[in-house]
Amino acid sequence: AQEGILRRQSLRESAARTYARALPIVPVRARGLTIEGADGRRYLDCLSGAGTLALGHNHPVVLEAIKKVLDSGAPLHVLDLATPVKDAFTTELFATLPRGLADDARIQFCGPAGTDAVEAALKLVRHATGRQGLLAFTGAYHGMTAGALAASGGATDVRVTRLPYPHDYRCPFGVGGERGAGIAARWTETLLDDPKSGVPAPAGMILEPVQGEGGVIPAPDDWLRRMRRVTADRSIPLIADEVQTGVGRTGAFWAVDHSGVVPDVMVMSKAIGGSLPLAVIVYRSGLDVWQPGAHAGTFRGNQLAMAAGAATLAFVRENRLAERAATLGARMLGQLQGLAAAHPRIGDVRGRGLMIGVELVDPDTTADVPPPDPALAAAVQRECLGRGLIVELGGRHNAVVRLLPPLTLTDEQAGAVLDRFADALGAAEN
Ligand code: PMP
Repeated sequence: AQEGILRRQSLRESAARTYARALPIVPVRARGLTIEGADGRRYLDCLSGAGTLALGHNHPVVLEAIKKVLDSGAPLHVLDLATPVKDAFTTELFATLPRGLADDARIQFCGPAGTDAVEAALKLVRHATGRQGLLAFTGAYHGMTAGALAASGGATDVRVTRLPYPHDYRCPFGVGGERGAGIAARWTETLLDDPKSGVPAPAGMILEPVQGEGGVIPAPDDWLRRMRRVTADRSIPLIADEVQTGVGRTGAFWAVDHSGVVPDVMVMSKAIGGSLPLAVIVYRSGLDVWQPGAHAGTFRGNQLAMAAGAATLAFVRENRLAERAATLGARMLGQLQGLAAAHPRIGDVRGRGLMIGVELVDPDTTADVPPPDPALAAAVQRECLGRGLIVELGGRHNAVVRLLPPLTLTDEQAGAVLDRFADALGAAEN
């Protein structure tokens, strides 16, 4: 059955499909960290729906919450009407917000995808400020719809000013560390304050506290605080895209919590829907300048996603899974750094919480920072799959292996993941 499904799907489905190319498996069952294929093989899933599955696959509290709605006779679709399910989700989400936003927050349901919420955020700040320009960062990823795409690295749009995102390993200024981040911040200030720089009047700044698709690049807390000051001093709304970093992933409930930064707008999706599609923006009420009905959408009221999401948020909070992600993530990072010491083809190991990246490089060079090695990364991904481990690649050159395991990962599972990864790396290097 598996071969037939894979063959038919590769013939019928668009060449645009992404994950399915590198991961030719046919999942038929899943629980926690594990996916079972149609051929009976089992895999440890460290892709987690691109960071969506905070509690892993089919967590009992999530299934229970979904069943409860199904069994209750509640409507599954009522556009954006108020329901008890939506009320419970909103209450649960507001309980997680950074202090400083929680008391004065508005929520806007945008769904179904992260990119929809990014669009809403960009439209909101443009509407609120009457300005059109946007400040965005190198290596960013915000989605695939027009506005989100324009804000993502590599895209060009005359309204978007591209600023340097600090990167310790591949520092654009060649110095790395705090100094590199300091130069990046000064660069931003200089551009904004020089009347001749030609920066279109900014409606907002959008950033990821840890770049995910860009190759798992955590922004230093000091730099984030400085971006908060830079924007606040100039009355520019700050949008934190927490689509991938939210719900405990980085070791705090929201990644901005590490720095104490309170953004004006937070973009949330992925894990907030407990594995079903849901996307919202939360912002300070002063920005709520919409005319009634100024932003519409048919699928903004997914009741099952809200129920699954509320159960997920509550479980993460009650079981302190953010703290768990912080300690387990730090340990895994340390172990991977140990592996890197013995493998010159690991150029860098970085991450925050259970959002981890391993950059593979070609060390046979005289360059200060060796060039990325996407072929090796692809080989490692293949070897991982052969050993029953699902990982994703990312980064500008697709040379970063990304690990996004569920926050429910046990110590034993973490050990199995790292063992398989080390094995796969050894095989790929030969
Ligand atoms: N923002 C970030 C930070 C993301 O990581 C992603 C998805 N990887 C998106 C936005 C877009 O979300 P979606 O794919 O659901 O549109």
